Amino acid sequence: MSLIEYLKKRDFKQTTEPRSGKSTEKALSFVVQRHYASHLHYDFRLELDGVLKSWAIPKGPSMDSDDKRLALMVEDHPVAYGDFEGIIPRGNYGAGVVFIWDKGFYRSVAEDRGDDAKTLRSELESGTLEFSLNGKILKGGFTLVKMHNREDNAWLLIKHNDEYAVKSFDPEDFVPEGIKALKNNKNGKATALPAI
Ligand code: MN
Repeated sequence: MSLIEYLKKRDFKQTTEPRSGKSTEKALSFVVQRHYASHLHYDFRLELDGVLKSWAIPKGPSMDSDDKRLALMVEDHPVAYGDFEGIIPRGNYGAGVVFIWDKGFYRSVAEDRGDDAKTLRSELESGTLEFSLNGKILKGGFTLVKMHNREDNAWLLIKHNDEYAVKSFDPEDFVPEGIKALKNNKNGKATALPAI
């Protein structure tokens, strides 16, 4: 687990994204950031071993267990990235608008939960990661499963059919109009999001 790729892609003189930063919480955190860059997508991040394991989800996560959402694994991010929202300036990697869409905690759903991090780590390596989310929007069981016969980084995020599952789900329904109106970054400067 390393942040070399994350650091390489960014100019910290220009962007206000964090350079590093560890978690102060004992429980494992997750965050979903709506990222309006060259394309709108949602970045899904799970804390593990001192970094945020990260997937870019073009259509965003879903609470409908019939949806299978393509999730492209990207580079690890620092845990402090989970608190970042704002505008990444034009010309920089990921230039655009980052909005914290949901955050909370997660845990393994393995029956024998001796050590969550150990279980999650080995599931991640095996290509089938099962966990339970406790966020404001995302709740209950999910599976991230690595796709075979696809590019190395292609996974699917699937909601379990549990008491939290719903029949249809659009992540944009949970985005304030003021954030939607920002589209992607127009002014080219690193700024915080306007108050909404
Ligand atoms: Mn992104």
